[in-house]
Parts: sequence; C-alpha cells; structure tokens
Amino acid sequence: MKTWDIDPRIALRASADFDLAAFDRSSTPGWSHDKDDADKLLARRGRLLSELQERLYAAGRAGENRAVLCVVQGLDTAGKGGVARHVMGYVDPQGVALRSFGVPTEEELAHHYLWRIRKALPPAGRIGVFDRSHYEDVLVVRVDELVPPEVWQPRFEEINEFEAELTESGITVLKFAMMVSYEEQGLRLMERLDRPDKHWKYSPGDLKTRSKWFAYQEAYQDVLRRTNTDYAPWYVLPADRKWYPRLAITEILTRTLAELELAWPKADFDVAEQRRELARTMSAAALQQSIDATRDSMADALTDSLEVAELAASISGANLPSRDHEAEVAAQIDRVIKAKQQLRDAR
Ligand code: ADP
Repeated sequence: MKTWDIDPRIALRASADFDLAAFDRSSTPGWSHDKDDADKLLARRGRLLSELQERLYAAGRAGENRAVLCVVQGLDTAGKGGVARHVMGYVDPQGVALRSFGVPTEEELAHHYLWRIRKALPPAGRIGVFDRSHYEDVLVVRVDELVPPEVWQPRFEEINEFEAELTESGITVLKFAMMVSYEEQGLRLMERLDRPDKHWKYSPGDLKTRSKWFAYQEAYQDVLRRTNTDYAPWYVLPADRKWYPRLAITEILTRTLAELELAWPKADFDVAEQRRELARTMSAAALQQSIDATRDSMADALTDSLEVAELAASISGANLPSRDHEAEVAAQIDRVIKAKQQLRDAR
C-alpha cells in the first residue's frame, strides 16, 4: 500500500511566514503517488475513520467531553462542499454535524458574530464540519467592507481566544483552507455554466467575488498568518486536483482521531451476568447459532482494534500490541465460547 512520504499535518501546516502568492495550487505536498494509489489509501482510511468515529461517539455517550471540529474555508469552486460530503460519507450520520454558514440572517446580525458559531459547535462525541465559518467575518466582511477595519482587525485575536476556549472544553479544532488557482476557478465556473445540471451551483455574484481575487488572497494570507496556532492549526490544501484535498483531509482527520487514543468505554454492568440472563430468553437453536458466530464476530472486533493500534503506532511510535496480546484475545474468545456452551448444556 503506497502511503504518505511526509505526514500531511507537517507538509500542509501553514508556517509563520507562509506566502500564499507562492503557493502551488496544483501540487500534492507529502504525496508522490498518483490518484489511483490515493483512492486505494482513501478506501482503507475510510474504514479506519469509521471505526475511530464510532469510538469517539461511544466515548461521548459514556460521558467524555471530546469532540472534533473541522473548519473548511475556501473561495467558490474550491470544493468545500465536496470534501465535506466525501469525508462525511465514511462515518455514521449520527456521529457528524455538518453546518454551512451563509449570509447572516437578521437575527444573527443582531448578535455578536460568534453567536451563530457557538450554537453550531459539535456536541461531545461528534465530528463537526463547518462549510465556511467565523472566518467569513475577517474575509468577505473585510473585502466587501461590511464593517470598518477597526471592527474586523481585533477579530483575529478574538478568534484565537475563542478557539483556545474550544480546545480547553475538549474540542479538537482542525482548520482547512482549500486553495484553488485563478485559472482553475475560471474553468470550474465555466463548467457550471456549460452544464444545466450545475446551474444551481452558479450565481452571477460569483463573478463579482472573482473580480476581487487579490483582495481575497490578501485577506486569506492574513488569516493564515494571524490565526495559525498550535492548538488550532491551519492546513493549507492545494485544491486544483480534486482528489488531493479529500485524501489529505481524510488522513489528517484519521491521524488526529488515532492520537486521541480513544478506547471503547468499559461496560458499567456485569457482562457475564447479562449473558446468562439473556441466554435464558433464547431458544437452544439460537444459542447454538450464537456460539457458532462468536469466533468471527470477536475476531472482527480484534482486527479493527489492531488496525487502529497499527496506525497509532506508525504515527506516534507507540508500541504495537505484542503476540502475547493476540494469544490473550484468543483465550478470551475461548472463554466466551465455553461460557455459552455451559449455558446451553445447563438447559
Ligand atoms: P456557497 O457559496 O458556499 O455554496 P451560499 O450560496 O450559502 O454557499 O453562499 C454563502 C455566502 O455567504 C458567501 O458569499 C459568503 O461570503 C457569505 N457569507 C458567509 N458568512 C458571511 C458573513 N459572516 N457575512 C457576510 N457574508 C457571509
């Protein structure tokens, strides 16, 4: 399986002196293979992401307060919506909260700009995805001069404080800036005009925004320099090749979740006792069917856990579960089978 040359969290992380003008939007930082190899790794990571998301959700249900927030920013046609749909496609819908932020409503405008953002934060155990975000309040608001500079300028610091507060409350914040080139944006807008099935995605206002390209680049440059913190980092994604941001965001999200070291919550009941009681309500045939299925279902859980442990080990240098661990799990499976056989024989 071909994989990353460099951890994308390092390859894509905006540096303090990040120069957006020099950023190659058709590059694939950290990845030297082609799209087919990317698709293969994506499929594999997707399974892992699903497993990790379920663990996060289970931990949330068990009372832990951890959540993850992916902020996705980018100009029209950069592919924000596509990434959100794609990444979310891997995980259980009840475990994600997708939210898009458009022009504020009258009610929203009557409040502080972070009001609508706070209301949309992911609850414990959830992965939140923001398609646009509070960053619009230092991007479009600045470029279109919706408020004077003395109002938007202090927002960078305010946003940093807000995100620090989120981090302290248990939300891991990941920020993705999808950067498409001027040429590629032109091609994508033209395609939307050519295809009747894409007209709904086009608005004549898109050309007005495009005409302010350089003002937006400048505004993004400031965002990337001034709100790129260790606790809420910006990852800048070249977006001219559609598959690359999908691959990179999936990888960054998977690695982030793997590093949360999410363990399945421990049962707060006596498993053996519950098994005994449940068995009493089952027919002998059903019990036999359950005995036959034990090895496969327990082995599935083991394979998933091992894959998570392997990824965690490959990114953090943690130790892999040893052979002893495998023997221990095999013994555990045997114990469960034996317990169920005894319940069957006792009937
Ligand atoms: P999209 O263009 O992403 O498909 P919409 O058609 O809902 O989605 O457009 C969102 C629009 O809302 C964008 O033009 C964006 O600049 C604007 N917008 C988002 N947040 C704000 C804000 N805080 N103030 C003003 N405009 C905003």
